[in-house]
Amino acid sequence: MKLVSFNSGQIGLVTDGGVVDLTDLSELPPGMWPPVHMVRLIAAFDRSAVLERAAARAPIPLSAIQLDAPVRWPNKVVAFPANYRAHIEEAKAQGQLISRKAASGQGFFLKANSSLSGPRDPILVPNVQGREVHHEMELGIIIGKRGRGISASDAPKHIFGFTCLLDMVVRGKEERVMRKSFDTFCPIGPWIVTADEVADWTDISLSLYVNGELRQRATTRDLIVDIGRMVEMASSVMTLEPGDVIASGTPAGVAPVIAGDLVKIAIDGVGSMTLNVEADPRGDDPVWHAGEKDGAI
Ligand code: MN
Repeated sequence: MKLVSFNSGQIGLVTDGGVVDLTDLSELPPGMWPPVHMVRLIAAFDRSAVLERAAARAPIPLSAIQLDAPVRWPNKVVAFPANYRAHIEEAKAQGQLISRKAASGQGFFLKANSSLSGPRDPILVPNVQGREVHHEMELGIIIGKRGRGISASDAPKHIFGFTCLLDMVVRGKEERVMRKSFDTFCPIGPWIVTADEVADWTDISLSLYVNGELRQRATTRDLIVDIGRMVEMASSVMTLEPGDVIASGTPAGVAPVIAGDLVKIAIDGVGSMTLNVEADPRGDDPVWHAGEKDGAI
């Protein structure tokens, strides 16, 4: 199944004819704030109720709706750094690595939930002079069932599905959460594909193109911390909630994007989305221009 959020407060199922509205299954009114419709659908997921509605209702053509981030208001967005060896080598060469450890020895970080954006939204490059904004192509893992202390072998029971995810970042040495939490720095979409539709999680292929040029290509086979271990590690610290998003970490090939670029991410068996990069006049702050001595203690 492919599940979408659309029109700023509705959710639905993608069928051959378009999107079948499932907003009533969330038991929340369309457009309600906070937009937790998908989180509630996932938390009380009832496959037969979804199929029943899909059979009874006329689909809306995809061209007639605006797709949003499939999960708009999760409890958290967990992200794994340095999770492909080739990317660690490239980051070392570029002097970007904060820690010399891989995710297996470094753990994870969080991105602000408000950095999530959807498949029709542009990526906004903040007006921070002298800094590069890089794309990181990642698999987004959507949690289905609450859990704490989940073992890697039990992880599949807690995974609802997958989505395309870009972990955008301002390069530099400031706190990672600040550099990675600008609005629109976590595009996800175009939908969530339920886990049952992805045959082999250990070999999912991902590709990223900028202006039609291949920049990143990888498979989950090369992950250092695999999907089961990501769930195990994150849930050793925090209760994972339905709708939580886990970003897998990026392979080699990260590079800058600038206003006017077109970024396409494609994940086999999941989907693809193409995003415009636009300039945002906001975002500057003295912290980005502080010298080595500023803030010294
Ligand atoms: Mn990343």
